[in-house]
Amino acid sequence: MASAGECNAHGQVPDPRHKRRDRLERLACVCLVAAATIALQLLGTFQPLEHWLTASRAQLLDRAPTGQVAIVEIDARSLKEISTWPWSRRYHAQALERLYAAGAELVAFDVDFSSPSEAAGDRAFATALKGGPATILPIFQQRASDDPSQQSVVRSRPAAVFSSAWVGGVNIFPGPDGVVRDYPAATMIGGRIQPSLATLVAENDDFGDRAFEPDWAIDVGRIPRLSFVDVVKGRVPARAIAGKRIIVGATAIELGDRYTIPRFGTVPGVVIQALAAESLLQHRAITRTGALPTLFGVVLVALILGGIAHRRFARTFPLAAIAVLAVLGAAPIAAESRFPLALNSAAMLFCAIACIALRVIIEVRRRVRLSALLDGETGLPNRRALEQDLTGMGPQRVVAAAAIDRFEAIRDTVGSESLAEIVREAAARITTIVDRAVYRIAPDTLAWTESADRAERSSKAVADLFREPVQTGGGAVDIALSIGLNGSIGGATLPQPLIERAMAATTGARALGESFAWYEGSDPAARRQLSMMGELRRGLAGGDVVVLYQPQLDLRHGTISHAEALVRWRHPVDGLIGPDQFIPLAESTGVVRELTDFVLSRVAEDSVRLTRGGAPIRFAVNVSAADIGSPAFVDHVVEAIAASGADPRNLTLEITESAIINSPETAVGTLTALRDRGLQLSVDDYGTGQSTLSYVKRLPVHELKIDKCFVTSICDSESDLIMVRSTINLAHELGLRVVAEGVEDERTLQLLRSLGCDLAQGYVIGKPMSLDELCGLADATESGLRAVA
Ligand code: C2E
Ligand code: CA
Ligand code: CA
Repeated sequence: MASAGECNAHGQVPDPRHKRRDRLERLACVCLVAAATIALQLLGTFQPLEHWLTASRAQLLDRAPTGQVAIVEIDARSLKEISTWPWSRRYHAQALERLYAAGAELVAFDVDFSSPSEAAGDRAFATALKGGPATILPIFQQRASDDPSQQSVVRSRPAAVFSSAWVGGVNIFPGPDGVVRDYPAATMIGGRIQPSLATLVAENDDFGDRAFEPDWAIDVGRIPRLSFVDVVKGRVPARAIAGKRIIVGATAIELGDRYTIPRFGTVPGVVIQALAAESLLQHRAITRTGALPTLFGVVLVALILGGIAHRRFARTFPLAAIAVLAVLGAAPIAAESRFPLALNSAAMLFCAIACIALRVIIEVRRRVRLSALLDGETGLPNRRALEQDLTGMGPQRVVAAAAIDRFEAIRDTVGSESLAEIVREAAARITTIVDRAVYRIAPDTLAWTESADRAERSSKAVADLFREPVQTGGGAVDIALSIGLNGSIGGATLPQPLIERAMAATTGARALGESFAWYEGSDPAARRQLSMMGELRRGLAGGDVVVLYQPQLDLRHGTISHAEALVRWRHPVDGLIGPDQFIPLAESTGVVRELTDFVLSRVAEDSVRLTRGGAPIRFAVNVSAADIGSPAFVDHVVEAIAASGADPRNLTLEITESAIINSPETAVGTLTALRDRGLQLSVDDYGTGQSTLSYVKRLPVHELKIDKCFVTSICDSESDLIMVRSTINLAHELGLRVVAEGVEDERTLQLLRSLGCDLAQGYVIGKPMSLDELCGLADATESGLRAVA
């Protein structure tokens, strides 16, 4: 029932098919979004977003520098006041001396000292180096040429005269987009791992030789800066220098050495060195999460937002979406504010937004679909829903349409608002009886489906329900229903005419003053048959179906050695019904399988009883084509026999020729399996179909039952006699036992005996009888034989 599931909110029965579709859609959403996100992540699509998030977080988490690191900048003013660049190193010597004199903790130069220059200046600087505590000079490597084909690198380290200084790596590596995003704690220069300048300045080598992300949250604008010229000229108070770790470097634009970094844009290299040193000093050198946590996060987000069902989508899904987005937004900020850790969240954010979008689209589509299947006024499933649901139902369905009598008059009295309430209330009442979806197929008509055997009873019950008036806001209203029924056999009828005819039948019910009426045009026999199958099921359970046995005479020994089980149905109203009246219908509706199970169990039990009593009569059970076609049949047979403890060799299954011819492959497979389990097999009604003995020869059977239409008249018909005689002879040659059925007189019996037939069955021996009568007959035959002997 496609719409029933959607009608849950209206108190209807949920629908498994719909649940399955919803689950599939959610699964597709999870897989699709997760896979797409991972693919895009691998392609680097989220990098720009990740960068933006990183910069935004830094802005938000803004931190003050420690103040322990200060920059002495070779700025434009210094260049102007001191001399044109390059300077004599005399000035550097002066600066160094001033800085140490003022109590600097250490001094690092991000200025190239690799080549000797004016000798006096170099000497002065070398002397200054030796005079102070620890001074760090830069070491770096660069490509020998700008020409991309030139791969060689040049290592630049301080000239030999400055060998008393420490050396720190100052290489900075911008990413492919030209932005510097990390800083190497050490670099491989000239085959040696060289700690970088910031590592030495901060005296923190936690990162070994790995790179880290400087904490862009630290505000570089607040790192103290002193102009080189002011230092040299002694214009800087000592307290601005005392205890500080000084990095000397160029900031004047004409000296170049500028890089782009997150949050702050283009800055001089020395600022990056200072920021890296600050990060290390504050233990804020940041590590970024790798691919695995991102992957895990993406899958988790997809599962939470894409995979979880929401019964009340509009209410609960937004909450889930907001919660996930809030966590994805807040977690990286919280983590980064507490720990030097950057969580990659761009892919997860994308995944979350994609899941939300997809789920909303799915939900909107679902609602559109749903609204097409719902009655706008009452929210009940509508006629289209019923048509759809009928298509998915098996045969044997009856549509019940219930028209509300005096509908127009009620509407005029109560108004359309209360009317909707009445219709809803009526539907709710009906649900208590029929326990399935109730549809509003026309303004004044409700409908439901019912199994054929329950249709009349439930219609009566529904009509009875409306003895009580329906309560509405505007008071109690008496309503009455006229119910029209229409069903189909074999599911051949299309939903539309099925519904229309049921609606048409409501008029009949109203005209007759009955609570229900079947569709006029529908064939009464068909109607009868429809309800009959339900009754048969109940008859099987209630003991109304009985098994009789028709004796078979062993023509050689004159004993009752076999008997065929034949069903009879004691119908509570129609009396005893023969199998010809219900077996074909049971076969076309599948009820025959239950019938066969029933007969088989009964016969197996009776067989056990007879064997214990010392009268081993072998029983034959009729099996229909529908049984042979069912894959579970062999198991059913084996189970029934095992449950009773009967010996399978005492049981014969009779299969008609036509059942075998219909589906030869299945039949042969089934027959072989049954034979292998010890059962005897017989070809029933032999001669009526197309099969020939050469065909039967290939079947795994033990017995041939010549149809009564040949047997009954062998005394009068030459051709029948020829047929029966040749069949007996040929069957014997094939090692088959031969039974002749329909033996109605003594002459025929004698003739069959003379033809060498093995067993005879017919009214002359005995009609189908109870087990006790069968035993009595068998005993009488035995004693008769003994008396003759
Ligand atoms: P069938 O298997 O050919 O059964 C033989 C039918 O011939 C029986 O009719 C039996 O009463 C009838 N009969 C027996 N002796 C004579 C005779 O001397 N003269 C005449 N004219 N008829 C005789 P019944 O019991 O009405 O069964 C009719 C058919 O219903 C059976 O034909 C069988 O195909 C089917 N049937 C009966 N019981 C079962 C059952 O338990 N399961 C299935 N699947 N089919 C059954
Ligand atoms: Ca039979
Ligand atoms: Ca037969």
